[in-house]
Amino acid sequence: MIEIRGITKRYGDKYAAKNVTFTVNAGEIMGFLGPNGAGKSTTMNILTGYLSATSGTARIDGIDILQDPIAAKAKIGFLPEQPPLYPDLTVKEYLNFVYDLKKCKLDRKKHLEEICRVVEISDVYNRVIRNLSKGYRQRVGIAQALVGNPPVLIFDEPTVGLDPKQIIDIRNLIKDLGKEHTVILSTHILPEVQAICDRIVVINKGEIVADEKTENIARAVEGKRRMTYNVCGPKDEVLKLIRSIPGVTYAEIIGNRELDSTAFLVESDDKIDIRKPLFFALADKRWPLIGMDVMGMDLEDVFLALVDQKNRKEEARKGGRKGEKK
Ligand code: ADP
Ligand code: MG
Repeated sequence: MIEIRGITKRYGDKYAAKNVTFTVNAGEIMGFLGPNGAGKSTTMNILTGYLSATSGTARIDGIDILQDPIAAKAKIGFLPEQPPLYPDLTVKEYLNFVYDLKKCKLDRKKHLEEICRVVEISDVYNRVIRNLSKGYRQRVGIAQALVGNPPVLIFDEPTVGLDPKQIIDIRNLIKDLGKEHTVILSTHILPEVQAICDRIVVINKGEIVADEKTENIARAVEGKRRMTYNVCGPKDEVLKLIRSIPGVTYAEIIGNRELDSTAFLVESDDKIDIRKPLFFALADKRWPLIGMDVMGMDLEDVFLALVDQKNRKEEARKGGRKGEKK
């Protein structure tokens, strides 16, 4: 349904998007995940024809956005990061304006009423947009995207700036819309894509680093335990000892702490609890362990885990090919 191939966007010598390639199948809810500045809005704006790419192609339902922008745009409902609302208009006036702009052919009254029912804004239909809460304004933005009944919906960071209740409501609404539409949801919030999406495409620094079913992303993130340990002892030797404990996959010194102790970041296989063997090994050396802390995974860690996984997969593939030649 959506096909992006080799999209590159350069600003001067800086790449906002670099050879971005992915497809979204009809009926799918795809999560486009990446930290701020990753290139999500750039990619969405190119896909929707708001921005031209330096190179690459974007097709919607087989239609190239550059070759036939009007036909391609008619297939897309887009909620940009900054929704294009007119604060002085009422919801009714605004949606009628969008209806005209899109040259919609559906029965005007019935169509707009139906949209308002779906996004639950019927009760503010005659209110001026300026006076609506942020949550309601975001709904009006979604209503605008639905005018003309496009099969593809693209939402760029739709929950930013909303309160927790509004966030849940908007997520549920997107999930519902996903039953009848092909959806791209762009966000920097990992739990958001995990809650809503079937598949996740991860972008970092303008490049796609993962394209996986949602459950596989969870697998890349899990399987690893991260802790910090504070130990009093000769730090290089302590580090060597930590690395020798079975189950430890990674260890580094992250700083000096109280009582002349050193802090170590340690990653280990989540099926092996390294705390007891590590404690006894340190006690044997009379290097006191004076603190330990669990470290959660944030988005940055997820990227590292994914990039790591990708590199390992590629190496395995290369290794396999070498093997075949023999
Ligand atoms: P995201 O939506 O993932 O936060 P963006 O697509 O907005 O990221 O931006 C990607 C990168 O491109 C950022 O580093 C941003 O600073 C840069 N960028 C975006 N628009 C412009 C522009 N008009 N001129 C120069 N750099 C830009
Ligand atoms: Mg953005």
